[in-house]
Amino acid sequence: MSIAENPAAPPTWRLLLGYVRPHRWTLLVGALLSLVTGATGLLLPLVARELIDDLSHDRAITGALVIMSALVVANAALGALGSYVLRRTAESVVLGARRALSSYLLRLRITAVDRSEPGDLMARITSDTTLLREVTTDSLVGLGTGGLTLAATVVMMGLVDPVLLAVTLAVILGAGTVLGVIVPRINKASRQAQDAVGVMGASLERILSALRTVKASGAEHREERTLHEAAEESWRQSVRAAKWSAAAGNTAGLAMQIAFITVLAVGGARVATGAIDIGTLVAFLLYVFYLMSPIQQVVGAITQYQTGAAALARIQEALRLPAEPAAQPAPLPATGAEPAALAFEDVRFRYAEDLPYVHHGVTFAVPARGMTAFVGPSGAGKTTVFSLIERFYDPEGGTISLDGRDLADWELPQLRSAIGYVEQDAPVLSGSLRANLLLGNPDADEGSLTRVLKTTRLDGLVARLPDGLETLVGHRGTRLSGGERQRVAIARALLRRPRLLLLDEATSQLDAVNEAALRDTVADVARTTTVLVVAHRLSTVTMADRIVVMDAGRVRAVGTHRELVAADPLYAELAATQFLATAE
Ligand code: ADP
Ligand code: MG
Repeated sequence: MSIAENPAAPPTWRLLLGYVRPHRWTLLVGALLSLVTGATGLLLPLVARELIDDLSHDRAITGALVIMSALVVANAALGALGSYVLRRTAESVVLGARRALSSYLLRLRITAVDRSEPGDLMARITSDTTLLREVTTDSLVGLGTGGLTLAATVVMMGLVDPVLLAVTLAVILGAGTVLGVIVPRINKASRQAQDAVGVMGASLERILSALRTVKASGAEHREERTLHEAAEESWRQSVRAAKWSAAAGNTAGLAMQIAFITVLAVGGARVATGAIDIGTLVAFLLYVFYLMSPIQQVVGAITQYQTGAAALARIQEALRLPAEPAAQPAPLPATGAEPAALAFEDVRFRYAEDLPYVHHGVTFAVPARGMTAFVGPSGAGKTTVFSLIERFYDPEGGTISLDGRDLADWELPQLRSAIGYVEQDAPVLSGSLRANLLLGNPDADEGSLTRVLKTTRLDGLVARLPDGLETLVGHRGTRLSGGERQRVAIARALLRRPRLLLLDEATSQLDAVNEAALRDTVADVARTTTVLVVAHRLSTVTMADRIVVMDAGRVRAVGTHRELVAADPLYAELAATQFLATAE
């Protein structure tokens, strides 16, 4: 599992109480309703005795009948209300946990996402939170009501005979020791069962997001086995948890039998010596019987809690992944806002402490307005430049500044609202074309939408599609061609009126006509905005105002095409091969 268990994590019950706290009063009402329901049930035998009494004395039974019917109806109504209130509260606890997790996962740092399995995180939101339902009702309420009844019964037992109470408690203590061994095993098995569900989610996500490749590779059978193994592992561990839960329940039952026999023996001896009378012994034995149900309830609550604690631990781990601070969204730049200037100063960066440096002191400066191309072999660190500008990662040394201000001093939403970013793999989300275009600016008016569609030469495509902008593009935009996806991503970025446009050019997704069109677009945009392009085509590079040549995490040279062809052998070679040979 990619998310490590953290030994310094606070106890999971604190997390649970955090989710339960907003609903504590409804939970209390629900618990009280179940207690009252139980009490009305207990009254029934008394009224029945009254009714029989009336009958045998030839009295009218109307009164008793009315009371009995009222009790039956009240019992049913209160019971229904109680279980509704409890279940509703439990669902609200689940909702609270899901909300908190969803918000948190959207704020996760990209570093955390790099090291996690999305499917496993999904399982934590969907499956693990579901387990909080039973924890809330069965565990918390069971512990509360069962504990109360237990305490009351013990007090009564102490009043009847303290010696016999001591005997009973000794037996219960012994059972408690055995339970102390069993209960952690339930927790461990539940944890492993939930982890297996996480593994299954991760595999599912991996397979479904690349189903075409899986099919084309003929890997269905192997992937099927992976899924089945995860499902079977969850089954195995759940069965193990069930085994230990059963053992716990029966240990409690057995303890009560032993307590009964012991009390009978010790109590009998005490009756024989005259320490207590027979009535006291009988009363005490009745209390031992009464103890049975709350003890089962409390043990049930504790074993049930172990499943929930395992889920809570998994939720807690997700909530301890590194995340960006919560912040309000920032407004987009106004039309005609000043283009941004950017500078890298001796930037050193690696993706993780156990990975080699990707930037060994990268330095370059980009003035406001105009187009800067980044070229260099695959793996040189070009895409990483863009990731650092977006602050998906922070550099280990050196500074990056936008408008002369260190990126670290920018509020993240402000920073990102100034930037339009077109990723190399130009991802498109499932949903409609319109939703994809408006992702970065839902308030864009039809006028700007039409303009941007024209600029990116998407207007022809939209006219051809049967549903126009409402056409669904499929998972990751599979219904669009590579070039169309790229242009949709550019249109989306332009709708944000960025002060800085980052375009990580796709390598071979545009035909000649589209390429020329896009080149004109970029040239247009560069007149009013700062444009950075990771370029793989000579045609893009030659129109750049300046070219930054990168190799192995360093800037080799900066200049115009003409200057660089003369001065830099690597650039000359890249240019000679039209760049494409070295493209990713
Ligand atoms: P370029 O875009 O110039 O081809 P990148 O900036 O994408 O190069 O990558 C530079 C180096 O960083 C490569 O060696 C790549 O393997 C590594 N790298 C890129 N992204 C990550 C990541 N998320 N985690 C770890 N290493 C990465
Ligand atoms: Mg790249």
